[in-house]
Amino acid sequence: MKKYRVGILGATGTVGQRFVQLLQGHPQFEIAALAASERSVGKTYAEACAWKLTGDIPENVSGLEVQPIEPPLDCDIVFSGLPSKVAREAEAAFARAGYPVVTNSSCYRMDEDIPLLIPEINADHLGLIPIQQEKRGFGTGFIVTNPNCAICSFAPPLAALHRKFGVEAVMVTTMQSISGAGYPGVSAMDIADNVLPYIAGEEPKVETEAQKILGSFTGQAVEKADFVVSAQCFRVDVIDGHTVSVRVKLAKPSTLEDVIEAMREFPTLDLYSSPEHFIEVLEEPSRPQPRLDRDRGNGMTVTVGRLFPDNIFDYRFVGLSHNTVRGAAGATILNAELLISKGLI
Ligand code: NAP
Repeated sequence: MKKYRVGILGATGTVGQRFVQLLQGHPQFEIAALAASERSVGKTYAEACAWKLTGDIPENVSGLEVQPIEPPLDCDIVFSGLPSKVAREAEAAFARAGYPVVTNSSCYRMDEDIPLLIPEINADHLGLIPIQQEKRGFGTGFIVTNPNCAICSFAPPLAALHRKFGVEAVMVTTMQSISGAGYPGVSAMDIADNVLPYIAGEEPKVETEAQKILGSFTGQAVEKADFVVSAQCFRVDVIDGHTVSVRVKLAKPSTLEDVIEAMREFPTLDLYSSPEHFIEVLEEPSRPQPRLDRDRGNGMTVTVGRLFPDNIFDYRFVGLSHNTVRGAAGATILNAELLISKGLI
């Protein structure tokens, strides 16, 4: 199997470290270059990085020198975990220089010509790539994005419902983990013994991204799905795993059995990082829980529980996904595997 050489932007951060961890032993990718801020440039990865994952920094990266976030980087493909304030310019520079850029940052997600992908749901949105290349003068380079980490906990079950019954309205309350804020993130004084009812910039993302992901690609553009989302976002005292409480109104009548079946039957893909089950529906009354369920499918499964008819909407459920795996680095890697499988890299 051909190995692609990967450069990671934001390699020292929370998402960057997860890239490094998930790429160990990956059959299609090897880490060739690491890049971060001026604070880190010129240091070895081990010197620059406050490693926060279990185990030691992998040997294949600890001695690599951290590079600036600008082309050229000695790699075939760029994975980005940059803050959006710097990502817009840096990622465009790499795309313009001919690199495929697969990113977590929010800055391009809602641009009309940029795919916002969950491969199991909307792989056909990759049809935007030639349109984007032409419009932006990227040549052979391009940008593909993955969604906000909280979206990954409810867009998959919504997609299952939307395909079978049509979704009309969604009310979602997120309970987002500490690692979602990056490192050092929120202060211990703020989060311990507490719930924070505000995450800057989060509610607008959670209210808009699912409609693009569940939208239809016409051949020229993505027509967004026509439903409204009302969101409230909270930071809670959990290290990894975003839990969401969802209420959904459907266009067509459906039984609880049909709803459960639609979610359980939603197909997974045959890519290296695909989980055996894209969506798992649990019937135990006290699940899902982040500590117990975030690592299902190596962090790539989305877990649903507490699925019942609702008194105001049609159904309610609790969704959960691992925010730095399905919601970030794992999502980017899966997107890149999809791009390879489609012959686009
Ligand atoms: P983080 O822990 O703060 O890491 C940020 C990374 O970007 C570090 O490598 C940092 O390098 C680098 N960086 C910061 N400022 C820079 C600058 N001015 N120039 C160049 N590099 C700079 O953040 P994170 O949680 O990994 O998030 C990274 C991105 O992924 C963000 O856009 C975030 O919204 C998105 N995201 C995060 C999650 C999550 O669960 N954490 C989920 C989905 C999406 P230094 O170490 O050198 O400062």
